[in-house]
Amino acid sequence: MAVTLDWLGCATFRLTAGDLVIFLDAYIDRVSSAPLVGLTAAEVTRADYVLVGHSHFDHIAGAEVIAPRTGAKVIGSNETARVLREAGVAEGQLLAAQGGERFRLSPEVTVRVFPSLHSCIWVGGSWDVAKVVTGHYGLTEAERAAVRAETGGGIGERARGAGAGDPEEMREHMRGTIGSRETGGALAFLIETPDGSVFYHDTSGVWTGVASTLRPDVAIVAMAGRPNIDGEPIQGSLAQFVGRMADLLRPRRLVLGHHDNWMPPMTTDMATPEAMAAVREELGRVAPRVELLALGFNDGTRILG
Ligand SMILES: [Zn+2]
Repeated sequence: MAVTLDWLGCATFRLTAGDLVIFLDAYIDRVSSAPLVGLTAAEVTRADYVLVGHSHFDHIAGAEVIAPRTGAKVIGSNETARVLREAGVAEGQLLAAQGGERFRLSPEVTVRVFPSLHSCIWVGGSWDVAKVVTGHYGLTEAERAAVRAETGGGIGERARGAGAGDPEEMREHMRGTIGSRETGGALAFLIETPDGSVFYHDTSGVWTGVASTLRPDVAIVAMAGRPNIDGEPIQGSLAQFVGRMADLLRPRRLVLGHHDNWMPPMTTDMATPEAMAAVREELGRVAPRVELLALGFNDGTRILG
C-alpha cells in the first residue's frame, strides 16, 4: 500500500494510504502574506477522515469546510466536536475522543488516539530553533497565569520577520476563523497501515511515557513555541525537543510540522538553513539512524510502501 504525505502548511498534512484520504488538522486557508500551500479548503474534493490535534484555530479551521463537502468524519476532542457542531458540521460526522480509542478508517487502516500536551503557551518560546531556553519550571497554574500576564505568553518573543505582514489583516483573519480559546486537550494519533505506522501530533508537547511505547515508522513532530515535556516547559531548545521526540519514538523517518511562516507578521519561517542544521546535529547526536524528510508544500512525498 502506497502511503504518501502532503504538507499543507502549519501542522496540516494530507495522508493517503491506498484509496484512503486522511487530513491531519485542516488549517489551509491563511492570511494573504503566508506562503501559498497549493490548495484551499474549498478545493478539497476527497477526504475520508480529518484528525484534529487540538481546537485552536490554526488546527481546526477548515474542518467545517472539508467535512460537509466530502462527508469526511472528524476525530477530535469534545471541544473540537463542540466548535464544529456550532459551525454546522452534522453530528453523525463528529467522533469525539480523549485518548484511549481505536477507530477503523478502512478495512486495512486504523488510528489509535492518545492523550498529549500543548506547548507552553503561558510562557512562550523562541523562534530560534537552536536557542536554549530555561526556567519557569515547577509553577502552579496561578503562577503560570502571572507569567502570562507579565510576558504576554502566546507564542513568545516577536518574530524576526515581524512587520512583513499586515497586522490588521491578521486580526481580521483570527476574528473570522473558527476555533476555541481552549486547546480542548491535545491529542496524538498513531495511524496503522499494513506497510507501517505514522505518529502525528500538532503542537510541541509530549507525555514521554506514552510516546516511548509507540515505535512508529514515521513521526510527524511539531516544532514551535516552548515545548512541553510531561507538563513542564523544556529546559532546552526546539532542536533538542525534536531530538527528544526522535529518541522516544525511534521512527525510521521524521517529518517536521508547525515551523513555517504560517501567520505573518506574528510568525516567521523557522526552517532557516541554520535551524535545520541545528536539528540535524541534534538528531545525529541522539538518534543517528533517523532520516529527516524535508517536505515542500503539497508534494506527495511517499513515506511508506
Ligand atoms: Zn495551539
